[in-house]
Amino acid sequence: MNQRDLTFRERLYLFEVFKGLWLTSGHFFSNMRKHLARQLGFNRIEKGAVTFQYPEERRPFSPRYRSRHRLTQRADGSPRCVACMMCETACPARCIYIVAGEHPDPHIEKYPIRFDIDLGVCVFCGFCVEACPEDAIRMDTGIVEIAAYSRKEMIYHIEDLLQ
Ligand code: SF4
Ligand code: SF4
Repeated sequence: MNQRDLTFRERLYLFEVFKGLWLTSGHFFSNMRKHLARQLGFNRIEKGAVTFQYPEERRPFSPRYRSRHRLTQRADGSPRCVACMMCETACPARCIYIVAGEHPDPHIEKYPIRFDIDLGVCVFCGFCVEACPEDAIRMDTGIVEIAAYSRKEMIYHIEDLLQ
C-alpha cells in the first residue's frame, strides 16, 4: 500500500492535536446540549449518546445475538449431538473438528467422542447452529469475553462446550 508523505503542517502535529480536540469537544458539547435539553423538557426527540460503564454495566444484547457456543444436553446430561458433521461441513472457517463414535444406545446412531471449536478462527456466522438438525449446538450463552494467552487455549473442547 502506498503511504503518502506527511505535510510540514502535519509533521508539526500541533494542528492535528487541535483538530482532534475540536472534533472530540464538538461531540461532547453536542451531547451535553441534547442531554440538558431533554432533562429540562425542551427536547423529547433528540437523544444524546449514552456511555455504558463496561464491564460494570453491560449493554443488553439482542436475543438473536450470537455469543459463545454451547452443546445442548439430553436429560441424562449427555450431548444431544449425533455427530452428523453437518455443522463441521457448513462451517466456512473450518474451525469445528468432530470425531464420531458408536453410541451404546441402539436408538442413537452416533455421538461425538471429540468436539472442538477453535474460537480463535471462528467468525461467529452461526451457520453451525443453522445447519444442526438436532438443535444440539446453540450460540446463546451470552458469553462474549473470549480471550486467552495462547491460540491453543482458544480451542474449546466438548467438556467446555457442555458447560
Ligand atoms: S459460528 Fe460460523 S465460523 Fe463459527 S463455528 Fe459456527 S459455522 Fe464455524
Ligand atoms: S450438526 Fe448438530 S448434531 Fe450434527 S455434528 Fe453438528 S452439533 Fe452435532
